[in-house]
Amino acid sequence: MDSLWDQVRARAANCCEYCRLPQWAAEFTFPVDHIRARQHGGTTEPDNLALSCPHCNAHKGPNVAGFDPMTDSLAPLFHPRRDRWHDHFAWSAATILGRTAIGRTTVDVLAMNAPEAVGRREALLEEGWRPDDG
Ligand SMILES: [Zn+2]
Repeated sequence: MDSLWDQVRARAANCCEYCRLPQWAAEFTFPVDHIRARQHGGTTEPDNLALSCPHCNAHKGPNVAGFDPMTDSLAPLFHPRRDRWHDHFAWSAATILGRTAIGRTTVDVLAMNAPEAVGRREALLEEGWRPDDG
């Protein structure tokens, strides 16, 4: 029987559920994120777990919310189990755009468009990777 971690990886098709980076393009094995951090009472159950690349995981930490850079209002972070990626984010070449308060806040808190993250995606795009291929 697959471990819980294997199930999370398979469900995510081995891509970061925040920035969509594929595991095969990364140097390190992706950690499993507690969407609602254990510090905030989050449990280690499938509905509270998401595959996350090391970059997104490190920036998310125990955060569950942030401030929308457009309105400065408090907004929850993207919840991979409850929210649909395309409802909250869109691509502009290698840059991820936030379409909603949730999307903008998540891009900001997780530093999804940090120069190294965009640079890595630009290199992947040049190699023929397309983020929506699944
Ligand atoms: Zn990521």
